[in-house]
Amino acid sequence: MTVAIYLPSQSNTDWWVTLMQGLLPDWDITSMASVTDPATVDYAVVWQPRTGDIAKFENLKAIVSVGAGIDHVLADPELPQGVPIIRTVGKDLTQRMQEYVALHVLRHHRDMPRQLQAQAEKDWHSIVVPVAPRRTVGVMGLGNLGAASARVLAQIGFSVRGWSKSPKSIDGVETFTGDSELDEFLDGCEILVNLLPLTPATRGILNAELFAKLPKDACVINCARGQHLVDDDLLAALESGHVKQATLDVFHQEPLPPSHTFWDHPAITVTPHISSRIDAETGGRLIAENLKIFDATGTCPDVADAARGY
Ligand code: NAP
Repeated sequence: MTVAIYLPSQSNTDWWVTLMQGLLPDWDITSMASVTDPATVDYAVVWQPRTGDIAKFENLKAIVSVGAGIDHVLADPELPQGVPIIRTVGKDLTQRMQEYVALHVLRHHRDMPRQLQAQAEKDWHSIVVPVAPRRTVGVMGLGNLGAASARVLAQIGFSVRGWSKSPKSIDGVETFTGDSELDEFLDGCEILVNLLPLTPATRGILNAELFAKLPKDACVINCARGQHLVDDDLLAALESGHVKQATLDVFHQEPLPPSHTFWDHPAITVTPHISSRIDAETGGRLIAENLKIFDATGTCPDVADAARGY
């Protein structure tokens, strides 16, 4: 079997080629740039492929996304229709997201930014907040990462609610479904965590209209995609004081340009898309496993639904 690999950085691509050669020693693993006969390529392993990169492989059996989202693959307007897309998910990715979500929810819950400001001023300023059961945290998206994060928040003791497209039942989590229940979900949600996939329905969902439905002093955590957020709407909501704090891990442009207002904003915490970056060796093992299963059976559990966009 022939696998062609593309990641935006050449050194990253070379690293992945070596890794996958070690994991699939009987397969022919190459970088996309080194493919001489596109008709021989069976699988493409990609992150942010360029327009037309994948269309040239006329006999492609599947595309592998080096990550949980498939939006970066679907963004290619020349993407061939009907080729299965395999996501890279797993315990490692879920665990990392649970840690990130717990850390930043707790940080907002205990008002650490204000507490650290008091320390900087040598001010013995005690901030006493309600206990977790009296704090409502909402998770948008109850897939692999959202459901796992909601569970951890419930275990800590928060009053947790979750929102998804189809009905869900998760222990300790009050669930809401579809657009008709979005307002009810948002009402009273003091800390909002976004873990939706990027699709036409969710692009720009973190906007002025949504912020207005949160209670005053709400905090927003976006660890899904930068394109979910309307940047200016967040800045306006922070300026007005309706939203108190935000933690942003993902951005319209990555790396976030040095001139961007978010870097210096006193109410925004910026992290560089690390909430759940898969460890490459673990990711490689998952990809190799999925490729072997797909090659033997024609499918695997991590095949995404390209028609619905995630
Ligand atoms: P997933 O398993 O595909 O789950 C997506 C969830 O969102 C599902 O519960 C789905 O509802 C819900 N959803 C989709 N469209 C919706 C809509 N229009 N209205 C309401 N709910 C909707 O995704 P995942 O693996 O948890 O990952 C979520 C996203 O996190 C990824 O797509 C990626 O963008 C992001 N991510 C970020 C990082 C990072 O490091 N920052 C790392 C990995 C992933 P149903 O269950 O009803 O279908």
